[in-house]
Amino acid sequence: LQEKLDKALHNISGRGKITEINVAETVKEIRRALVDADVNYKVAKDLTKRVQDKALGENVLTSLTPGQLMTKIVHDELVDLMGGSQEGINLSGKPTVILIAGLQGSGKTTFSGKLANYLQTKRNKKPLLVACDVYRPAAIDQLKVLGGQINVPVFTEDGSTNPSTIAENAINFAKANNHDVVIVDTAGRLAIDEQMMNEIKSVHYFIKPQETLFVVDSMTGQDAVNTAKAFNDALNFDGVVLTKLDGDTRGGAALTIRSVVEKPIKFISTGEKMEALDLFYPERMADRILGMGDVVSLVERAQEQFDEEEAKKLHKKIAKNEFGFDDFLKQINQIKKMGNMKDLMGMIPGVGKAIKDVEISDDAFKHIEAIIYSMTPEERRRPSIINTQRKNRIAKGAGRKIEDINQLMKQFDQMGKMMKMMQGPQGKQMMQMMSK
Ligand code: GDP
Ligand code: MG
Repeated sequence: LQEKLDKALHNISGRGKITEINVAETVKEIRRALVDADVNYKVAKDLTKRVQDKALGENVLTSLTPGQLMTKIVHDELVDLMGGSQEGINLSGKPTVILIAGLQGSGKTTFSGKLANYLQTKRNKKPLLVACDVYRPAAIDQLKVLGGQINVPVFTEDGSTNPSTIAENAINFAKANNHDVVIVDTAGRLAIDEQMMNEIKSVHYFIKPQETLFVVDSMTGQDAVNTAKAFNDALNFDGVVLTKLDGDTRGGAALTIRSVVEKPIKFISTGEKMEALDLFYPERMADRILGMGDVVSLVERAQEQFDEEEAKKLHKKIAKNEFGFDDFLKQINQIKKMGNMKDLMGMIPGVGKAIKDVEISDDAFKHIEAIIYSMTPEERRRPSIINTQRKNRIAKGAGRKIEDINQLMKQFDQMGKMMKMMQGPQGKQMMQMMSK
């Protein structure tokens, strides 16, 4: 969608002056791009009609920058279509009960973990996860693993076949153990069917959740909208979670769901890591669709992970030439905490498209870590003592070649130099330039 819209808007922005025919043409191309991206035809048609009226009304024709003005109009319409503003979740109730519904594979279990993590770390809650997928034992284990990663307990009942009872028992357990939020992960099926709908309806009826969230895979396009409709008819849910927005996804679902089921999108899931969850901001999504990149989210995530105390210590070390491999490891961990590298880079304007097909994985760090772990504490503190003999020993320990050690030493050296430079007057200048 992004590429096609880019093209449609590029046609118009390339021109100094445009005519009424150009506007009509551009609008038609935008509509085609939207429909191609699985936006419901009627929704696309209404949107582009409004864009056209506005474009002519605001007199794009005589504007000095018709392309920019046109982009702004499309942007504003997209924002409107996606609901205008961010809508949070309702955390009333003691405990707050949140029901997670959706098809199998949509990302419910992963999202349940992420939501628990979000509520625990950012909203100061004490969540309890509940495994209600009674059909697939593996699904229960999956939730247990996620719970373990984020230190959130998972309520399960071995051998039970009734999700409503499990959920009810879980709520009682939560009350007895001071959990203020209960997140109920449910079973899904590959397609909408009666049994699944009856089951989830019954769970919904029994536990009366404060918040019912419908999870949908953004890569399923137009189907996502049909699924949303079916679940909304059954549950009258409160919000939508769009998952897998890190993939080569079409924006269509995000654009249509809101206008078809009239429910807000509340979260977007952008990766498999527990931190890869963002609140949904229509503004940012519109920017992203129009190729501006989700810079604001990127900066926010980076800020969250950035520990100021650590940074101060690091500055001192660099100044005193005491930066060692332990610090290097810490840096790597910081980067890893920020979520999947590719997700992050994809948020930078212009980069998303360029790296679409490039494999970047956290595994890239594994070898580096293995090498550093094979060093003695002394070697990590004072890398300058690492001679050939020591290099050989480290290489053996890490199962790498001596060239790999040399390469890492070189990278480490360069990083040290760069960081020194960043602290000098030159670096300050550069940072100022970048922040502009
Ligand atoms: P469920 O059947 O609805 O519970 O779906 P799961 O949570 O088990 O997710 C199905 C698959 O999609 C798993 O392999 C997840 O790791 C993956 N997944 C879930 N959310 C995301 C996401 O936002 N991005 C990516 N890339 N993968 C995801
Ligand atoms: Mg699941």
